[in-house]
Amino acid sequence: VDAVTAMEGDGPIHGLPVDMRLIIAGDDPVATVSIAAVTIGYKAPHIEIGPIAIAHARGIGIGDPEKIEVVGERIEDVQMNFIKATCEVVEGWFPEVIIKDGASCRVCKAWIKFTLYMLKDSNFFEKFNKTGKKLYFFVGMEPPFPQDLEEVRKLAEKGIPIIFGSCAVHSLKNFYWVIVQGNLKDKVLMMPGCPPFAVQQQANAIIERSGVKLEEEEVEEAFKYVPTD
Ligand code: SF4
Repeated sequence: VDAVTAMEGDGPIHGLPVDMRLIIAGDDPVATVSIAAVTIGYKAPHIEIGPIAIAHARGIGIGDPEKIEVVGERIEDVQMNFIKATCEVVEGWFPEVIIKDGASCRVCKAWIKFTLYMLKDSNFFEKFNKTGKKLYFFVGMEPPFPQDLEEVRKLAEKGIPIIFGSCAVHSLKNFYWVIVQGNLKDKVLMMPGCPPFAVQQQANAIIERSGVKLEEEEVEEAFKYVPTD
């Protein structure tokens, strides 16, 4: 494991670099990543981290750090407590975004976050916040989307309502046709999918609907991690 410069937080792209100056190696890949996990602050990776837990339980390798012999640097001398990655959208990081959650799973939240990071990398928010508007994401089963058309219109004046994910789309029930065919169809964005992983299209749709103009280089910067072929 190359931990010379590691990353904490929202890896693998949007985390923060950590200068660990460490290489972790071993002849058991499960034990090796388990010890790597301990060095970033996990206590029992064979219980706390899904892939390590499964590999340990199936006997593919040893995941219990108590049963792994470590040579070289002592763990306590190099151990750090990393900020963990999260699927939750921390609204403080995206002040122009409001998440209205029904009963969503964390996968949809993760894809909202990827979409938002893509917008952030393009400088979208710097321009969007000058409009004084917000992005309203409705996600999960039965999110609190207004069931009164006048309320939807008012919301659309304050920002862009986005129905995100198939759970939220299906929760609209008969209201769906009013949104997609009626005079609100240009005011509400619908992003179906389970999960809705077309981040580039989603980010593009938000940019287009917002009226924000981005330079070509800004878009390239944001989309550079997305395979185009
Ligand atoms: S649409 Fe899929 S990914 Fe999104 S909340 Fe529902 S089950 Fe989860």
